[in-house]
Amino acid sequence: MFPNSFGYVAANSVDEALRLLTKYGDDAKLLAGGHSLIPAMKLRLASPRYLVDLGQVPSLRGVRIDGVTLVIGALTVHADVQSSEIVRERLPGLTEAASVIGDVQVRNRGTIGGSVAHADPGADFPVILTALNASFAAVSPSGSRTIPVDDFFVDFYTTALTPNEVLTEIRVPLPSSGTGTAYHKMAHPASGYVVVSAGALVVRDPSGRCASARVAIGGLASGPLRATAAETALQGQPLTAEVISAAALKAADEGSPEDDSYASADYKCHIATVLARRAIESAVGRAK
Ligand SMILES: Cc1cc2nc3c(=O)[nH]c(=O)nc-3n(C[C@H](O)[C@H](O)[C@H](O)COP(=O)(O)OP(=O)(O)OC[C@H]3O[C@@H](n4cnc5c(N)ncnc54)[C@H](O)[C@@H]3O)c2cc1C
Repeated sequence: MFPNSFGYVAANSVDEALRLLTKYGDDAKLLAGGHSLIPAMKLRLASPRYLVDLGQVPSLRGVRIDGVTLVIGALTVHADVQSSEIVRERLPGLTEAASVIGDVQVRNRGTIGGSVAHADPGADFPVILTALNASFAAVSPSGSRTIPVDDFFVDFYTTALTPNEVLTEIRVPLPSSGTGTAYHKMAHPASGYVVVSAGALVVRDPSGRCASARVAIGGLASGPLRATAAETALQGQPLTAEVISAAALKAADEGSPEDDSYASADYKCHIATVLARRAIESAVGRAK
C-alpha cells in the first residue's frame, strides 16, 4: 500500500514547526515516530499534503525532574521511558506501560507524544497517564497552555489539541511517600494493542488506609476511563485484600464496551475487574 504523494519538511525547532503549521494550515500534519501516522497514510485514512517532521528538535526529547514533577519530552521514544532509572524508581507503573507497547522496533521509534496525540483507544500510555494524573504542555502561535489529563482525551483518535498546536511535554506529579503505581494489560495476541488494561495509583496513609486512589481502565470506551466507583470504594478504607477485591469489581461500572472480533463486551468488563485488582494490589504493595 502506498500513501498519496506528500511534501516533507524537517523542523529544527518548535518555533519553526509552528511557523510551518501556520503556513500549510489544514494541509499539514506533524510527524514524530511515524508508527501510527505512516500506516494511516498507507491505508489512505490520512492524506496530509505536508509532513512537518519533529525528529530534529532535540529539546523535545528526554526525561528530567523539575521540582515535584517528572517531565517527559514529547519526542521521547517508548524505549527511553522504559529504561529511565528515574521513572523505574519513582513511577514503576509508567515503566510497566512503556515495556508492553508493541515490540522492540515500535518502542525505539514510537514517541510518547505521538502516542497520546494519536489517542488510539488501544494505546497504553493514555491509561497509565490518566491514573498518574498527568498533564500535557502544548504551544501554538497564540501561546502555551497545560491541559489536565482528564480533559485531554476527547474521543476515538481525538484529543483537546488543536491542529496548530505542538505537544511539547508530558508532566507527571512525582508521588509522595506512601504512594504506589502499577499497570496491567491484556494485549491482543496479533497486534499487541490493548484489549483491556488497568493503571492504578494508590496513596496509603500511615495507618494503612487508602488516603486517595486513581484507577484508569483502557479498552472499555473511546479512550482511557476513570473508574471512579472503584476509587470511591477504596477511599478511606483499610487496604485489605477484601476491600481491594470489592473495589476492583466496580472497575467496569463506567464502561460502555462493544463486542468485537476478539472479545465480547461482557468478557472485557470481566477482564477489567481482574486487571484492576492486580493493578491496585501491585500499587498497594509498592506504596511504602
Ligand atoms: C506494529 C505496531 C504495534 C503497536 N503496538 C502498540 C501497543 O501495543 N501499544 C501502544 O500504545 N501503541 C502501539 N503502537 C503504536 C505506537 O506506540 C506509535 O508509535 C504511537 O502510537 C504513535 O507515536 P509516533 O511517535 O509513532 O507518532 P506518529 O505516528 O508520528 O504521529 C501520530 C499522530 O500524533 C501527532 N503528533 C505526533 N507528535 C506530536 C506532537 N508533539 N504534537 C502534536 N501532535 C503530534 C501526529 O501528527 C499524528 O497525528 C504500535 C504501532 C505499531 C506499528
